[in-house]
Amino acid sequence: MKTFRNFVAGAWVEPSTGEYFDNINPADTTDLIGRFPLSGAADVERAVASAKKGFERWRRTPAPARGDILRKAGDLLVARKDEIADLMTREMGKPLTETRGDVQEGIDTAYYAATEGRRLFGHTVPSELRSKWAMSFRRPIGVCGIITPFNFPLAIPTWKIFPALLCGNAVIFKPAEDVPHTGTVFVEILLEAGLPPDVIQLLHGAGEVVGAAIVSHPEIPALSFTGSTDVGSLVGETCGKMHKRLSLEMGGKNAMIVLDDADPDLALEGVLWGAFGTTGQRCTATSRLILQSKIHDRVLGELVDRAKAMKLGDGRKEGTDVGPLINEASRKKVERYVDIGQAQNADLLCGGKRATGKGLENGYFFEPTVFARVTAGSRLEQEEIFGPILSVIRVDSVDEAFAVNNDVRYGLSSSVYTRDVNVAFRALTELDNGITYINAPTIGAEAHLPFGGVKQTGNGHREGGWEVYEFYSETKVGYVDFSGTLQRAQIDNYGDDATTLL
Ligand code: NAD
Repeated sequence: MKTFRNFVAGAWVEPSTGEYFDNINPADTTDLIGRFPLSGAADVERAVASAKKGFERWRRTPAPARGDILRKAGDLLVARKDEIADLMTREMGKPLTETRGDVQEGIDTAYYAATEGRRLFGHTVPSELRSKWAMSFRRPIGVCGIITPFNFPLAIPTWKIFPALLCGNAVIFKPAEDVPHTGTVFVEILLEAGLPPDVIQLLHGAGEVVGAAIVSHPEIPALSFTGSTDVGSLVGETCGKMHKRLSLEMGGKNAMIVLDDADPDLALEGVLWGAFGTTGQRCTATSRLILQSKIHDRVLGELVDRAKAMKLGDGRKEGTDVGPLINEASRKKVERYVDIGQAQNADLLCGGKRATGKGLENGYFFEPTVFARVTAGSRLEQEEIFGPILSVIRVDSVDEAFAVNNDVRYGLSSSVYTRDVNVAFRALTELDNGITYINAPTIGAEAHLPFGGVKQTGNGHREGGWEVYEFYSETKVGYVDFSGTLQRAQIDNYGDDATTLL
C-alpha cells in the first residue's frame, strides 16, 4: 500500500509523529487507497515558519503574475479532470458524473481567480482638501489556515485556496481525513503550475489534533473553515479569543417548497437530485420537502416509487445513481435519525435501512429514505442529518410554507417551485437563506457568485464570486497630500477661514 506524505517547507515529508492513518474506499472497505500522515503540532510549527518566508516573496509578486500561475493550475485540472474524478470517487464515493462536476468547479474557480489578478479593485475618491488624493487598495494578510470537509474534496479547497493565493497570501491546507488523496493531488498541481513551494503547505491528519493546532497558532492570522456547525463553533471560539479573521461555512437544513401551481414533474426531478445526490451529503442537500396540500399526494406518490428505483452502487460503475455514505459513523448517525423519526410518529414510506444487495456488502450504503407526515419543529425536521433522508411536511398556504422554511437554526439554501412570478419574488425577499432557487432544487451554486448562508450556517462571509476576495485581503487607505502645506481635515475645510479653500 502506498504511503503518502505531507508537503512542508518545500518537500514531501513524513509527519513528526511517525504515525499514519488508512484511507479506504467507502464503496468497498477492503480497497485500501493509501496511508496518510497523522500530523502533530510540531508539523504546524515547521509549516508556519516556511509559509512566513514564502509569504514575504509571494506578496511582492504582482497579482497578475500570481493569476498566471492559477490559470496554469486550471489548465492542469482540465488535463487531469477524469483522472482526478476517478480517484475522488474512489475515496469519497459519489458517482463520477458528480466528481467530474466537482473538478469542473475547481477549474471555473481557477479561471475566475486568474482574471481577478487584473482587478482586485480599490477606490480612488475625491479628497475633501485641495491637492490631495485619497484612495483605498487591498493588501494580503499573511499565512492563511484552510480547513475543509469531505464532501467536495476539490471544489471547496479551490474556493478557498485560489482566492487566498491570488490575494498574495501563503496557505496551510488541512483536508478532511476521509479525502486526503484529492487534497494531495491538488497540491501537486499547484506546484507543477509554478507556485513557489513555500507558499503552500499540506498537513494531513485528525481535525482535533492538527486542525486545532492550525486554528490556535498565533502566526496564522486568517482562517477559513467549512464543516459542521459544532466544529465551527469550537473554531470560532478560539479565533474570537485570538482576534483572528475567520470565515465559517457550516451546516444546513435546506427546504424545497412545492406550491400547488408548480409543475409536479419538474419538482420531482429536482427533489430526487437535491435529496439523494451525493447521498444527501451536501451542505445544500434538500432534506425537507414542503408540499402544499393540493399537490401533496401527487408528488409524494411518485417520489416514493422513484426513490425506490434509484440504483445504489460503486460510483465508478456506469449507471450508479447513489453512492455510499462516507464512513460508518455517518451511517450510524443516519440510522439514529430513522429511529428518531419513527419515535416521533413520522411515516417511513421507503428506505430506512442499510442497503445490502449484491456488490454493496462491503460499503457504507444506505437506502434513499422518505418520511411523510413530518411535524414542523420535530427533530427530524430541524437537525442536519447529512444522509439520504428526506422529510416531507404538508402545508396549506404560501405563508405557512415560508414560515416552516425559516423556522430552523440554519440558513444556507432554499427552493420554491411555482409559476407565479409574484410568489417567486416574494420568496427571494422573504426566505431566510443565503441562496434561493426558483424552479430548481436547493443545489447548483455557480463559482462566480457568492456562496454562503445566514444564521448558524455561517458568520457573514461568502465563498465564491467577487466577495471572497475581500475576505483574503485587508483594505488599506492611502492619502497623498501634494499641497506643500499642512491641511487639517474637518478643520481647515469647515472652520472659520474655510472660504480660503474656495
Ligand atoms: P467536520 O466538521 O467533521 O470536519 C470538517 C473539517 O474540520 C475536517 O477537515 C476536520 O478534520 C476538521 N476538524 C474537526 N475537528 C476540528 C477541530 N477541533 N479543530 C479544527 N479542525 C477540526 O465536517 P465534515 O463531516 O467533513 O463535513 C460535513 C459538514 O460540513 C456538514 O455539516 C456540512 O453541512 C458542512 N458543509 C458546509 C458547507 C457550506 O458551504 N456551508 C459546505 C460543505 C460542507
